[in-house]
Amino acid sequence: MENGTGTTPARDQGTSGGEPGRRALVIGAGIGGLTAAAGLADRGWHVTVLERSATLEPVGAAISLAPNGQRALDRVGVGDAVRDLAAWQGTGGLRAPDGRWLARTSSEEAGERYGDNLVLLHRATLIDLLRARLPEDAVRVDAAAEVVDPGAADDPRRPARVRTGTGELTADLVVAADGIGSATRRRLFPGHPGPQYAGFTTWRIMVPAPAEPFAPHETWGRGALWGSQPLHDGTVYAYAAAAVPEGGHAEDERAELLRRFGDWHHPVPALLAAAAPDGVLRHDVRHMRQPLPAYHRGRVALLGDAAHAMTPSLGQGGNQAIEDGVVLAHHLAPGTPPGPGLAAYSADRLPRTSAVVARAAKAGALTLLRPALAVRARDALVATASRLGPDLVLRSFAGITDWR
Ligand code: FAD
Repeated sequence: MENGTGTTPARDQGTSGGEPGRRALVIGAGIGGLTAAAGLADRGWHVTVLERSATLEPVGAAISLAPNGQRALDRVGVGDAVRDLAAWQGTGGLRAPDGRWLARTSSEEAGERYGDNLVLLHRATLIDLLRARLPEDAVRVDAAAEVVDPGAADDPRRPARVRTGTGELTADLVVAADGIGSATRRRLFPGHPGPQYAGFTTWRIMVPAPAEPFAPHETWGRGALWGSQPLHDGTVYAYAAAAVPEGGHAEDERAELLRRFGDWHHPVPALLAAAAPDGVLRHDVRHMRQPLPAYHRGRVALLGDAAHAMTPSLGQGGNQAIEDGVVLAHHLAPGTPPGPGLAAYSADRLPRTSAVVARAAKAGALTLLRPALAVRARDALVATASRLGPDLVLRSFAGITDWR
């Protein structure tokens, strides 16, 4: 038997050993997996991360992190680095396609209310910061992994077993952070329907900032939205969404964006003009409408999109994955049977993440409303809410949530 966290050396592994009771395997080196790995390593676990891709370059350009995600990152020692490298997004607001402001938000108010702000940074930067919290040999790439046996949490003779391309590994704890298409979720919860189409598709681009300045904004039309957010390095992250049937694909996605958004207010046309035709990412959005019954089985914990894929409508998927990783590490002391800690992790995270999934679905439906009358009513509601208290807007549509 090959060993990544266990006993005998393997030809492709960068690490081995770790005392029995302290060997953790993390499947997936995305945001959630690396956060969990950093948290577990801090607690004294011997961690090996298995990533199927050849590099850790993440898909998806940029990511916005809300105060809850930043506070969770503080626990693994990268919160301040993220704040330093990020662009602040709290000052901006919601607009209509003709440029009218429906609601304004302010950095000061967000800071006062939540202690932090919304920040935006390159996904690759976040991955690098988390990766740097781990020993050099802790992450193995080109290492697709599959849970063969989740093991028995309270029986030391039954560790979890994980198969890789080069053999089988055993571990005292497995963290399945293998994303929305999680094979581990299917293996452990075969009766669960998994993620389903949420009714809209998304596009993302990264382009140089246009000459004419603009404030960060999200703009809501009829069945379509656009967001433009500057990064600290002079680039702009822009995203769009439209309610369309599943599985659509345009030969030229930039032309498709121009057709849908080309006559929206500045900076939308300027950003589209700067986009490379092959530089547009398009993804249909799927989410898990039905929560899993638990986030663990045997010695395996599920986290992030593998456990609770949500629509990006609140920008909370990554933030919740980060919270998962930190809470999991909090509950799991090395050298003790992981059963009670895993149960506490599920009990902590299931209600919170299920509520965020449901809120994100509602926000998505509202932002992508199509009937003209309903859109007018929505826009009026948002404008009124903004006058009553910008905090309401931040809470409802910027994904800001309290977290201890
Ligand atoms: P992933 O990031 O998907 O990582 C999973 C990793 O597991 C990958 O590296 C994959 O290669 C690896 N893997 C899979 N299978 C295996 C295997 N068998 N063996 C080994 N490795 C494997 N969230 C935010 O917080 N803020 C935002 O602004 C935001 N914007 C978004 C915009 C869009 C358009 C979309 C679609 C999502 C957005 N999200 C946002 C959500 C966020 O991207 C995800 O919730 C987050 O990336 C989930 O992290 P994860 O670690 O669970 O999964």
